Amino acid sequence: MSYRVGKITNIRSPTNSIKEYEIILEDPIEPEPGQFAMLWIPRVGEIPLSFADAEGEYIKFIVARVGKVTSRMHDGLAIDDRVFIRGPLGRGFRQVSGGRVLLVAGGYGLAPLYFLAKRLKADGCGVKALLGFKSDEDIFHQEEFGRFGEVEVSVEHGLSGYRGTVLDLFRGMVRSGSFDKVYVCGKEELNLAVSRECLRVGVPVEASFERIIKCGAGICGSCSIEPLGLRVCKDGPILGGEAIAPILEADES
Ligand SMILES: Cc1cc2nc3c(=O)[nH]c(=O)nc-3n(C[C@H](O)[C@H](O)[C@H](O)COP(=O)(O)OP(=O)(O)OC[C@H]3O[C@@H](n4cnc5c(N)ncnc54)[C@H](O)[C@@H]3O)c2cc1C
Repeated sequence: MSYRVGKITNIRSPTNSIKEYEIILEDPIEPEPGQFAMLWIPRVGEIPLSFADAEGEYIKFIVARVGKVTSRMHDGLAIDDRVFIRGPLGRGFRQVSGGRVLLVAGGYGLAPLYFLAKRLKADGCGVKALLGFKSDEDIFHQEEFGRFGEVEVSVEHGLSGYRGTVLDLFRGMVRSGSFDKVYVCGKEELNLAVSRECLRVGVPVEASFERIIKCGAGICGSCSIEPLGLRVCKDGPILGGEAIAPILEADES
């Protein structure tokens, strides 16, 4: 797959460790929420990023500072710089129309869920988002999610919203039985715990998984979820509760 060229039109820094990049591509694309792109910085590297929004030529990425490529993005990219992307790649969320949905995000895991919330609202769903952060200074995108439905924030250390983990917040809520579908994106432990709880109470669930993705084409095997043999870049990154049920059961025993 060849690279698409885009130009950065806006950069925001909602927190010390997060930057949002708005990009205009040369040609329009039609990613589904949950799909990702491989973003290449020449002479630095290439990384997978979820589409946090997309419409025609416009796309948005939300990027946490982690290591080599993401730090280079944070420190080096400026408005009008060019970026190169491969994508859309992978399988997105299976969307429902109508009904009540619950979104559970851990930190920058809110990126694909923001794009999803926008689509779900447009499709007539009632959306509730739970956004989990470590501390008050890490909170971002609360108002943006508010455009599409209800939002609750949790912090592990701080004064805002619910005090505790987003998993605890979620557990208290899903048992009310008033949601038709749950979508989660965060660290693996959060994805697995939320999926397990949903299977237990009989609510359909999908989670967005992370692995080190290299080829992005389902060939190299670097992103396989073992022992299931599911490739995050091709079979995922979005996987339903049934697909990962064997590892959920194994974790419990
Ligand atoms: C499908 C998918 C979608 C993603 N979407 C987003 C997004 O929207 N926003 C965002 O900020 N990040 C996203 N990520 C994560 C992002 O790709 C990584 O943070 C990035 O590749 C790190 O690159 P780096 O060069 O900055 O860090 P590196 O220098 O490569 O690594 C720093 C450290 O982080 C570890 N690490 C790096 N990548 C991963 C990973 N994927 N899983 C586990 N450990 C890792 C490395 O092993 C190393 O210890 C996504 C990942 C996947 C697989």
